[in-house]
Amino acid sequence: MKNFSVVCRDDDASKRVGSAVIKALKNNNLTFTQTQPEIIIVIGGDGTFLSAIQQYLPVLDRVCFVGIHTGTLGFFTDYTLGTLEQCIVDILSKQPYIEQKRMLKIRIGNNEYYALNEARVESTKTQAIEVYVGNEKLESFRGNGLCVSTQSGSTGYNRSLRGAIIESGLELLQLTEIAGIHHTVYRSANVPIILSGNRYIHLFSEFNGATLSFDHYSFPLDNVRDIEISLSDKKVNFAHFSPNSWFKRIEQLF
Ligand code: NAP
Repeated sequence: MKNFSVVCRDDDASKRVGSAVIKALKNNNLTFTQTQPEIIIVIGGDGTFLSAIQQYLPVLDRVCFVGIHTGTLGFFTDYTLGTLEQCIVDILSKQPYIEQKRMLKIRIGNNEYYALNEARVESTKTQAIEVYVGNEKLESFRGNGLCVSTQSGSTGYNRSLRGAIIESGLELLQLTEIAGIHHTVYRSANVPIILSGNRYIHLFSEFNGATLSFDHYSFPLDNVRDIEISLSDKKVNFAHFSPNSWFKRIEQLF
């Protein structure tokens, strides 16, 4: 890979690492280009990774990502400040193994949004949401919101909602409740529901005062009545330069 780009978190430490990486790779005849990179080096954390993916969304099939965490270690980042030199050596001398992770597609009318982690409908006001899978009704939900997570997102917000952590490589959708109301009148599953990766989840509601959050973006759901969430054809290419054990990552991070 000859062409690279760098996406840095907006803090001094990450920017310093970014400058050092650019200098080291350019000194070894790699070309820095923000428009036509083959590999994107993400410096920051998992949050920075999510924003880098959105930045390169239109060309995801032509690029791969590698991450250097400037904090501890993340789920999407293989390197830390302590292994920065190794990262540069690996990029210069090795062919990476590419791991692909599917993104969610969120469709609202004619608009489509993509997320690696999850899509959430959230509100401080109670939402009454009719949940359908394909054409079949699953449940009527009442509460603060719902979260639909991918495998990648299972260790993020989903986990805080007591959703299951899903092993890397499994393609599925996980639906979790955000403060569901459960009593004799209103009843919904009250536990995470795991659905096959080819399902289409439809959420119907007035969505009064609610917002849609997907990864690190969010916007108000004014005048929205129907949200469709499914796995998309878009895949994120993660470049790994050495064996990458998902189990070890879980053990190290939690
Ligand atoms: P953010 O500040 O970018 O991220 C919040 C925290 O979630 C950070 O510690 C981040 O790690 C971590 N994170 C992100 N994706 C993760 C993943 N797949 N597995 C494990 N940890 C992950 O927050 P944001 O911009 O609002 O949202 C970005 C993402 O963060 C969301 O998609 C959501 O999954 C996650 N998040 C989680 C919670 C929660 O657990 N209560 C709350 C808000 C957001 P780094 O420090 O490495 O960036």
